[in-house]
Amino acid sequence: MTQVTQNEDVQQICDLCGSSSFETISEYDRHNKPLKTGICQGCGLVMHQPMPSEDEISTYYAKDYRRDYHGESKPSPRRIMRAWNNGQRILKQIKSFIPEKSKVFEVGAGIGCTVKSFEVDGFDASGIEPNTDFNSYTRGVLHANVENINLYDLKEDYSRDVLLLIHVIEHFVSPKRALTHMRGLIKDDGLLYIECPNVGAPFATFGRLFHFAHTYNFTHNTLINMAKVAGFEVVQTFTDTTNPDIQILFKKVTIPESIEFDKQEAKHSHDAIFRYNWFTYNLRTDYLLRRIIKLTSYAKEYMQANSFVKDLEGRFKS
Ligand SMILES: [Zn+2]
Repeated sequence: MTQVTQNEDVQQICDLCGSSSFETISEYDRHNKPLKTGICQGCGLVMHQPMPSEDEISTYYAKDYRRDYHGESKPSPRRIMRAWNNGQRILKQIKSFIPEKSKVFEVGAGIGCTVKSFEVDGFDASGIEPNTDFNSYTRGVLHANVENINLYDLKEDYSRDVLLLIHVIEHFVSPKRALTHMRGLIKDDGLLYIECPNVGAPFATFGRLFHFAHTYNFTHNTLINMAKVAGFEVVQTFTDTTNPDIQILFKKVTIPESIEFDKQEAKHSHDAIFRYNWFTYNLRTDYLLRRIIKLTSYAKEYMQANSFVKDLEGRFKS
């Protein structure tokens, strides 16, 4: 395990609380490449040290992301099937909170399956996706309304009812800036649905937790505080703190809340991350059970994906 060191001389300002005191907890990423990760001592937010610039991130995405992350430049049938089922789950999960025919907008729409799921269900659904790799599939095959536009190029027009941010917030250079901008894209009573990995319920062993693409690692508390400072409050939390995913529906508030940050959050993040070592992590009974279910479902997925995708694509053929 990487040794924990106190790093007082880092002149990095925390995006959430403004503190510049960090505890460095890791020097390597999940592939053993150098990557420094720290916990903000003011609020418990876990992030890269130093934070890459917007330019560095853009260069990384332009060149390496798809390859580094998925090894694909076109979506495989398995990826499409998973994305579609995920879109259906999200639709089912938040549908009762959204008025019929609402304007639903996804930031970071990926292949476009979630946007399409909402569209098929009668919503006015669209989205943006900065990566161009899957664009031709999204628009040409799924006929999903997803454009290749940068978030910050969208005008603050207060026009949308619901924003979706699915496994995207952990990639921003400044989540606060992103959420604040997104607040300007929705109506005064607008909703914001966020999903991201939960670093408080390790989804991997410590050595495999960190990745350059994940500039931030959230716990429930740090995500909720981030949304609060950007002007949102919690409507409904769908996963508990032991789930490897965080899924929360927020609502826009008139005036962003000012927050008293609790220094105990740093300890909370630290303890959550170091709860298991490799041995205890792999011996968790629920982990073993989940692992078996996952492997079984991989095999099933592999066999089903081709015909699933053929049927799906047939539905949207013009
Ligand atoms: Zn902080």
